[in-house]
Amino acid sequence: MLLLNPGPVTLSTRVRNSLLQTDLCHRESEFFDLQDEARARLLQLYGLDPSQWAAVLMTGSGTAAVESMVAALVPDAGKLLVIENGVYGERITQIATQYRIAHTVAKHEWMQAPDVARIAAALDADRSITHVAAIHHETTTGRLNDLRALATVCRERGVRLLVDGVSSFGAEAIDFADMTLAAVAATANKCLHGVPGAAFVIVRRDALAVAASRTYYLDLARLARLQDQRNTPFTPSVHAYYALVEALRELADEGGWSARHARYAALAEQVRAGLAARGMASVLAPHESSVVLRAYRLPAGVSYPHLHDALKSRGFVIYAGQGGLSAELFRISTMGDIHAADIERLLQSFDALTK
Ligand SMILES: *Cc1c(COP(=O)(O)O)cnc(C)c1O
Repeated sequence: MLLLNPGPVTLSTRVRNSLLQTDLCHRESEFFDLQDEARARLLQLYGLDPSQWAAVLMTGSGTAAVESMVAALVPDAGKLLVIENGVYGERITQIATQYRIAHTVAKHEWMQAPDVARIAAALDADRSITHVAAIHHETTTGRLNDLRALATVCRERGVRLLVDGVSSFGAEAIDFADMTLAAVAATANKCLHGVPGAAFVIVRRDALAVAASRTYYLDLARLARLQDQRNTPFTPSVHAYYALVEALRELADEGGWSARHARYAALAEQVRAGLAARGMASVLAPHESSVVLRAYRLPAGVSYPHLHDALKSRGFVIYAGQGGLSAELFRISTMGDIHAADIERLLQSFDALTK
């Protein structure tokens, strides 16, 4: 079965085999070697300086990392502006609400790009806003939000940016040199090709130094402090760490994030062109989309459950549209151990069921 959903991904044999390594106690030096390698490789992926940045690991899915980032990095006296244009932006608002973090929302339709002029006006109208939270790749629609434009309006106003990069880290460009970027949250089992269970925040050390402590388990500053001391507060998902480290080694061997970007871009274009030739248009133009996942219009007269089941019987798991989009769209991700020949077979499977 090939997974074309946005994580967990189809594993490479190399990463799958890494799960079968020796049993490991998380209080032994072998585990801390593994933790150190994961943390170092996460920073190396984007060429980050460990004296300025920390990769903080935690056990959980991508949402754990996003929650940890938001709960820690908006100071008690701070205020957050959340940019919503899909499910994941809305999730950040729910997190801020639950932690009683002062916040306001720049709400957009799910199909819309963030309106940078409106966001700038919102920041000008409320000078108490200290942080902006944005989704990099909004997986709801496949849109790649323009982080550079958002960072510019933040930088001009001395506001810091918190990014949900769960479905972009490892495959899309992220400008870590921009001082306004305080942190990016992500997970092992999307563009990095690991297994679910390990998530992380890449965070500036100066932001960690002034972090708030609103949560016990997901306390980002405490996790960072202990990991810097080759320690861990809780039992980590040891096997997921094995897979994360092997996946990061594999990614480095393949040429790093830009090579992965190029690989995804070619696969995404193969899917787009193939479905367009079969009368199924992509929802967004390629220049607005990530290379990681794209949304397509369902063919006339074909329901999502029918399409899903027919493709699944041929060995492919596709993904539904979220919420109100489920009747109109389906989504195809090209993360994981997926190759051009797999996409060719996928397209042939469409032929068989739309005839
Ligand atoms: C997948 C995803 C998440 C987190 O989902 P989990 O199920 O918690 O791993 C968060 N943000 C975005 C943009 C995602 O694509």
